[in-house]
Order: sequence, then structure tokens, then C-alpha cells
Amino acid sequence: MTFLEKQTDPTSPMHWRGNMQADYLYLSGVAGDKFFKHLMKNDTFLATKCPECNKVFFPPRLYCEDCFCEIPEEKWFEVPSKGSIKLFTIATIDSYGKKLKEPKVIGLINIDQTDGSLLGVIKTDKPDEELQGVHVEAVLKPKDKREGTLKDILYFKKK
Ligand SMILES: [Zn+2]
Repeated sequence: MTFLEKQTDPTSPMHWRGNMQADYLYLSGVAGDKFFKHLMKNDTFLATKCPECNKVFFPPRLYCEDCFCEIPEEKWFEVPSKGSIKLFTIATIDSYGKKLKEPKVIGLINIDQTDGSLLGVIKTDKPDEELQGVHVEAVLKPKDKREGTLKDILYFKKK
């Protein structure tokens, strides 16, 4: 089959196997840029608060997704890089299906003082323990090693 072959049977779509290069660049946007630049120099996170409904966005947003109003500069503020585990799972294989040397706990963490959450690795000595509701804090890379990405957050640990 070639790329120029005419499709005559709509129930039998053409297909071919191969690799396709897909280069992409993810832009974090204005709010994300400000969040990551702050994280490079500080051990806290940034959040924004809607002036209309008081919803606290983490990660920070420029507009309220409920009210559609703009969130002004004075509604940006720091929150501690801490939170409580909303839910978690224990991974035993990596994204390629290869068995991990040791189980990895991954959790959704509700960030303190916000209505938002963040996925993160949770370091624990006992991966089989109940972690829901446990309070954790972020362990960040040393400031001189930070690159302004989520990888600056190494993991979360129990307080
Ligand atoms: Zn709002």
C-alpha cells in the first residue's frame, strides 16, 4: 500500500505502521510562568484568589473558571508547599510496563489554603500504609539546581 492508494472501502480504513516524529513545546502560560519563576527562588507556591467568589486557584489562574472574571495582581499570594493527600496509588511498574525496583507511591495532594491540588510522588517507608488525609510537605531541589519545572518538586514527605 502506498500513500497515494485510493480509499474505496470506508469500512476498511487504510493504515500503516511506522514512527512519526512529533516535536512539541509545552508553554506554561503567563500564570504558569510566574508560578515557576517564583518556585525557582522560593520554597513556597503561588496561588490566586477570585475577587468575586473567593475560590483559591492552585496552580494559579489569571481568570476565574467559574465567574470568568479577571484575577488582579493583588490577588496573587504565597501558600506553603504543603498539603494533605486526597488519594493515592502504589505503582509497581513504570510507564513502559517494566517492573520498578521498589513500589512508588503517587498521590493527589490538596495544597493547603487553596482549592487546588497537585500530583506528586510521596516518599514513605511503608508504602502499604493508609495515606489518605495524611499531611505532607514538598521536598524541593536545592535552589541553585532548580529549572522552573514541576521536577523542582522532588517528592512529598510526611510532616
Ligand atoms: Zn470566581
